[in-house]
Formats: sequence, C-alpha cells, structure tokens
Amino acid sequence: MTSLSAGEGAPIDILIVGAGPAGLTAGMYLARYRRDVRIVHDGRSRALWVPRSRNIPGFPDGIVGADLIVRMSDHATRYGAEIVEGRVVEIARDEDRALFRARLDSGAVIAARGLILATGVDTNLARLDSGDHQAAVRSGVLRYCPICDGFEHSDQRIAVLGSDLHGAAEAMFLRQYSRDVTLIPKWQVALTDKPRGELAASGVDVLEGRVLRLEATEEAMFVAIEGEAAPRRFDTLYPAFGSTPRSELAAMLGPLTDPNGCIPFSAFSDGLLPGVYAAGDVLEGLDQISVATGQGAMAATRLHNWLRDQDGHVMADQK
Ligand SMILES: Cc1cc2nc3c(=O)[nH]c(=O)nc-3n(C[C@H](O)[C@H](O)[C@H](O)COP(=O)(O)OP(=O)(O)OC[C@H]3O[C@@H](n4cnc5c(N)ncnc54)[C@H](O)[C@@H]3O)c2cc1C
Repeated sequence: MTSLSAGEGAPIDILIVGAGPAGLTAGMYLARYRRDVRIVHDGRSRALWVPRSRNIPGFPDGIVGADLIVRMSDHATRYGAEIVEGRVVEIARDEDRALFRARLDSGAVIAARGLILATGVDTNLARLDSGDHQAAVRSGVLRYCPICDGFEHSDQRIAVLGSDLHGAAEAMFLRQYSRDVTLIPKWQVALTDKPRGELAASGVDVLEGRVLRLEATEEAMFVAIEGEAAPRRFDTLYPAFGSTPRSELAAMLGPLTDPNGCIPFSAFSDGLLPGVYAAGDVLEGLDQISVATGQGAMAATRLHNWLRDQDGHVMADQK
C-alpha cells in the first residue's frame, strides 16, 4: 500500500471505476448528493458497441449506444462529477480501512473513502474470415445479445454459433422470434440427446458440420459449413460464446468473485466489505443497460449513506 501512495492527490469521497451506464449513473447520483466523486474509465464501455438500443425505457425509437454514453456523461459532469480517462491497474485498502488507493496506468494515485466497481465484462467475440467485425455489428448482421435485439429479427433467418448448452439455450430463446433458427457448432456439437430432443421439438435446426468460414456483408452473414457445396445465408448470426467479467480489481480487494469470475451481489453488502459496491454487468445477473443504471443508483445511495453513517449523520434508529 505504501508503494501506491507516491504521486497521490488529496483524498476524494468516492472513486468509481467505469464510465458505462452503471458508473455514470452512480456518478450522477453521487454528484447530486454533493459528494466529491471521480469516475475513471479506459474507454471500453460495451454500450459503445450498441448500434441502436430499443429496449431502454423512454426511447421507443431507440438510441445509439455512443449517444447514450455522451448524454449520461454530460448529465454526471453537469452536477459536478469528474470524469478521467485512464486504466486502474492496482487497487488496495489501507490497513486502518480509512482509504482505498487506486493506481492508474499513468502512475497517478487516487485515494478515496469509498469505491464503486462498474467495470463491466468483455464479450467473447467471433472471428470473421471476411468483412469488418464492427461494421457487421453496426449493420445488425452480427449480434451478441438476443435479449437486446432478438425482436428486431422477428421472422428472419437466424443462426446461432455455439456447440454447447449455452448455444442451445440461446437458439431456443430466439425461436420465440422466428421459425427459422439454426444452431451451428463452432467445432462439433457437444450436446446430449436430451437438449437435442428439446431443440428438435421446438423446431430449431442443428447442423453437425464444422464452420469453415464466416463472411459478413452489409445485408447478410454467409456461413460455409464443412461438407456443404455453398455457404448458407442468414439475416443475422449470434455467436453464443458468453463473456468474461472484468473483475481483476475486485479480486485485488479480497475473495469476492465466484468461480466464473463474476461478483455475487451479496459480496458487496456492507458487512462483508464496507465502503465497496459494484454495479452493472460485472455483477452476476442480467447484463442490460436498465439493470446497470438501477444498480448504479443503488450502489451510489448505499455508499453515500454508509459515509454519512461513518460521519455520524444517520439517526441511530434508521440504521
Ligand atoms: C453489441 C451489443 C449490443 C447491446 N445492446 C444492448 C441493448 O440494446 N440494450 C441493453 O440494455 N443492453 C445492451 N447491451 C449490453 C450493455 O451494453 C451492457 O449491459 C451495459 O453496457 C453494461 O453497463 P456497465 O456500466 O455495467 O458496463 P460497460 O458499459 O461495459 O462499462 C464498463 C466500464 O468500465 C471501464 N473499465 C473496466 N475496467 C477498467 C479499469 N481497470 N480501469 C478503468 N476503467 C475500466 C470501461 O472502460 C467502461 O467504461 C449490448 C451489448 C453489446 C455488446
């Protein structure tokens, strides 16, 4: 910890790591609680990938993810939150538990009384053999979140890339939207008879041949399958490879992650780790913008009240 204190400024009330929907909501709430709050981020919000989200309450015509982040950043800074670009590479807590110290890749150190981790997850991406990955996401021929945009592909030809139960479950979910759903194994199908039977009963096709090539154009995704003469054309393809939580910072503070690297919500109750909260995708649960904003508001309010309590500003019978 002492090694972390070189280059440190005056302590602030709260440090938030992450400027996605969770961190920015928490920052806006805390600024409105008149807290000295700094949000540090390294530009990797998954919301920046969202071509146009149509399931955010209040935006029936949808909103582009990057525009949402600009609006939310403006909202937080307008009330006094400070947003700083940089990667937090190390985090620790004083032995007397008074301050957290975070070191950035620039070498700067931020000391704070409270901490919110809103670091999100990394989507495990598919590799395209032809076509630009980002352009394919923007045009909607490549998708990563059936809950977010399955509706947009109602009655279209949908492929799910994945050979395990996760892929099977995603294909079954998308079957609500279209009769034409095909599960394509990346290497070989790793399903027992039971899920195969369930997929067959609900009308999901399962291909056995390995994928040789993925090619995105502006209008469609072409998938070349081993043993087939011509590539198959789909309106969209959902890789079902899951995601990897960005929970390294949480792990530096204690044993707070589950075997999948996710942070259980309960790990952040005051009793277990006072002064630390987490919000958004990095927590186990539903990875959605509305959930992230709700958890950001909750984390901010609980942390604000925790600090009030530390300072003797909470009535004893309200604790
Ligand atoms: C293609 C796509 C489409 C989607 N469409 C929708 C949709 O339509 N509707 C919907 O509700 N959801 C959608 N989602 C999911 C949505 O983007 C996420 O649920 C949401 O962004 C989660 O917010 P978050 O704040 O938890 O994490 P993120 O938005 O991922 O933000 C994480 C933040 O943490 C920062 N960070 C991480 N580690 C560090 C570090 N060590 N130092 C500094 N900064 C760090 C990152 O830079 C980033 O600012 C979509 C996701 C994808 C990939």
